[in-house]
Formats: sequence, C-alpha cells, structure tokens
Amino acid sequence: MFDNDERGKKVVIVSHCILNQNCVVQPMARAKGAFKIVSEYIEDGVGIIQLPCPELRHFGLGRKPMEKFEYDTPIHREICRHILRPVIKEIEEYSKYGYEIIGIVGIEDSPNCDINENRGIFMQELFKLLKEKNIDLKGYEVPLDYDELK
Ligand code: SF4
Repeated sequence: MFDNDERGKKVVIVSHCILNQNCVVQPMARAKGAFKIVSEYIEDGVGIIQLPCPELRHFGLGRKPMEKFEYDTPIHREICRHILRPVIKEIEEYSKYGYEIIGIVGIEDSPNCDINENRGIFMQELFKLLKEKNIDLKGYEVPLDYDELK
C-alpha cells in the first residue's frame, strides 16, 4: 500500500445543497452557490463528500415545496436508497482505510435532510444503511436561521 503522500485522511459528508444552493426549492436559496461555512473544512484540510439531493433527483428543479409526510412514500424511500448506495460504498472504503469521517452535515427542518430533531426521509434511509454496515457517524446540521442573502 502506498503511504507516501500528504493527504489529511479526514472527510466530512454534507447535504448536496450545502455546496450547491442551486438545487433547493424556489425561492428558498440562502446563498448564491456554496455556503461559506464550508471554508472552515477547506482551511482545516478536510475533504468534502457531497451527498446527492433526493428532491432534485425525484422531482427536479421545478418542484413545489412539500411536507415531510408527502415525501414519506415507498417510491421516494426507494429512490433515496438507490442514490445512496454508491455513497455507502465510498464511506465503507474510507472507514476500511482508517480515514477519519468527521460526520454528516444535514439541513435543519428539511423534510429530507434534517438529522437531529425531526429526521428527514433521506437521512433516515442513510442512517439505516450505515447501521446495516455497522458504521456509526455523528450528525450535524446547518441551522434554520443560517442565511447569507439576508
Ligand atoms: S433535499 Fe436535502 S440536499 Fe436537497 S435541497 Fe433539500 S435539504 Fe438540500
């Protein structure tokens, strides 16, 4: 095994819209593009893994705002699992090779990407798949009042 480069061997996993606000429901964007808060990870030499956006994949850019119960359907959960499979494979690889996975950063109050109080459908499926692989990761959230455009 090659072990002679200077990579930091630290990664964080983030909801898609943290790096790309272009995917959110209109008119909910809170930044022009990526949230500036990720610059802390960049400065600390942390690699950033971007999760897919389940709402964009299922309903596209022209979707209307929907409640969590409206996303709680077998087909939406199946889409979530389908788009998460490659991510799970990557997480397993980083774990296997001893990389530090700082955690998963979601979006407070999102029907899909909330992690803590009222876990969204996508994050429910992600944490279930991780549990099946015996991978335990911490969860963090971008707070509801975070807004770079105000
Ligand atoms: S589903 Fe997740 S990634 Fe997509 S816009 Fe909502 S919070 Fe962001």
